[in-house]
Amino acid sequence: MNTFHDLGLNEDLLKAITDMGFEKPSEVQDKAIPILLKEDTDLVALAQTGTGKTAAFGFPMLQKIDINSRTTQGLILSPTRELCLQITNELKLYGKYCKGLNVAAIYGGASITDQAREVKRGAQVIVATPGRMKDMISRKLVDISKIEYSVLDEADEMLNMGFKEDITEILSHTPEDKNTWLFSATMPKEVARIAKKFMHAPQEITVGHKNEGSKNVSHEYFLVNSRDRYQALKRLADANPDIFSVIFCRTKRDTQKVAENLIEDGYSAGALHGDLSQNQRDIVMKQFRTKQIQMLVATDVAARGIDVDDITHVINYQLPDEIETYTHRSGRTGRAGKTGVSMVIVSKSEVRKIKSIERIIKKQFEKKEIPSGMEICEVQLMSLANKIHSTEINHEIDPYLESINQLFETSTKDELIKKFFSVEFTRFFNYYQKAKDLNASAVNSSSRDSDKKSSSNAARYFINVGEKDGYDWMKLKDFLKDNLGLGRDDVFKVDVKESFSFFNTEKEHQERVLAFFSDFKENGRFINVEITENRVGRGGGRGRRRDGRKGEGDRKRRSSGGRNDRRRNNDENTPSSRSRRSNSGSGSTVASRPRRSRRRD
Ligand code: ADP
Ligand code: MG
Repeated sequence: MNTFHDLGLNEDLLKAITDMGFEKPSEVQDKAIPILLKEDTDLVALAQTGTGKTAAFGFPMLQKIDINSRTTQGLILSPTRELCLQITNELKLYGKYCKGLNVAAIYGGASITDQAREVKRGAQVIVATPGRMKDMISRKLVDISKIEYSVLDEADEMLNMGFKEDITEILSHTPEDKNTWLFSATMPKEVARIAKKFMHAPQEITVGHKNEGSKNVSHEYFLVNSRDRYQALKRLADANPDIFSVIFCRTKRDTQKVAENLIEDGYSAGALHGDLSQNQRDIVMKQFRTKQIQMLVATDVAARGIDVDDITHVINYQLPDEIETYTHRSGRTGRAGKTGVSMVIVSKSEVRKIKSIERIIKKQFEKKEIPSGMEICEVQLMSLANKIHSTEINHEIDPYLESINQLFETSTKDELIKKFFSVEFTRFFNYYQKAKDLNASAVNSSSRDSDKKSSSNAARYFINVGEKDGYDWMKLKDFLKDNLGLGRDDVFKVDVKESFSFFNTEKEHQERVLAFFSDFKENGRFINVEITENRVGRGGGRGRRRDGRKGEGDRKRRSSGGRNDRRRNNDENTPSSRSRRSNSGSGSTVASRPRRSRRRD
């Protein structure tokens, strides 16, 4: 592997690199920097987030521009204000020994005149978001007609965010013969199209596979019913007491709602999305960086600026619309050599998307179970035990020890430990003891209920028509109930195979069914129905859907009548009765967690 010196960087830059503590180039830097320094070429560079792309274009740009001139020579376009500021700060660090270097940041939500002044001071490099840049061009506050190097950073994100027209407009004000360097984590078709449109025979470098996720990230998914999504999220948080995570939602509204619910339920959470003011977003980000907030609930767009290195978990509360976006989300963790986990909460209807994501990231997901209440109790208990074990004694308690000792004079150590831990454990235990299983399985509990019913009360039939005769479960069901004169719910568990099918009716209809089909012809062909032992319709997802609905109805009826069930619902659905978790971060044991005073409340 090369050193920065080998790459051909000048002394001023090398000194700054030493100051920053970079020891050796990252892969994308190793590949891009020599090319960009030696050649006047266009470049497409694909590399994951957190791989050091800023320096990969930043160093060559600073080395190639003429610092003695006050003409704007480099233009970097980036999708968000946060990234824009981040890049600007990095460039200033890289260029701290480049005397006379001016880097101006141009972005929305701040004074345009101040920014124009920055540019006027002789900014050789401008880092900009597309919207504000376009604005400043039209007001003639910048001149980019002599640009030599333009960078499209996070090109995929800029396109996702609908900046294509702005970019086109901006680049039309730059010289034809400039070099364009495009950096992107993923390569959807849109980016390829942009590359083709604006670039001349670009060289291409790829770090890892195209669109591939970070090697340090493992991917897990959890199958739940849609209505249990939020409960599942809380379980995942509770099962990871030291979680420091970004939770992704699809819309601003969901983002706000999930964050509010978490806060109300006592978690240290915050929301980050575009409907917040810049000031609010800055505050939340600061709290997250300083770990005052453990769970940051964010939209994809807002999360682009997050450059926090030790995120332990990315949780996909909902999958993104564009599956390429998943790469960006999971790239928020597993940064800077650390490992991370990207979790996805999916409902049955979305589970096939997991396969598509696996193809894109070229990694397998592991299907995991949402932990049970008792598993969480155990995790929390052991986490507390470990924290106590490693806690440094605070001698401020010394004056009180005598009275405390008196109180426990007759207790053994064993007893004391049990009591001490019970204080914490009981809190979680009370909350979780009646918690239901949140995992939606292929055959879920509700259909298992109806299986019981079917084994006692239902008859299962084999029928010699199937898909090849043009039936799906709905058509076959209609055909059966119409011909047999049965009601909508009297035919169930319809499971259509290629050349035959199965279905159920209540036993009371059995005679009628068999009699009807004893001599029934359709299109000249006998349709044959027999009683079968195959009671549980396996496969045939559609058949199950119907069963699921029925089962759910059953459960609702039962639970509205049953005391226990009602309590269980309350326990999981109205956790707001739990006290707030302190954000002070002081004793970061579970004691700071929310459940403390269910009883007090
Ligand atoms: P990307 O744009 O690919 O997401 P960044 O350029 O933001 O990545 O870099 C991610 C982090 O890694 C930054 O904090 C940056 O300072 C740091 N970094 C970049 N290059 C190196 C290097 N060669 N050695 C150590 N740290 C680096
Ligand atoms: Mg970057």
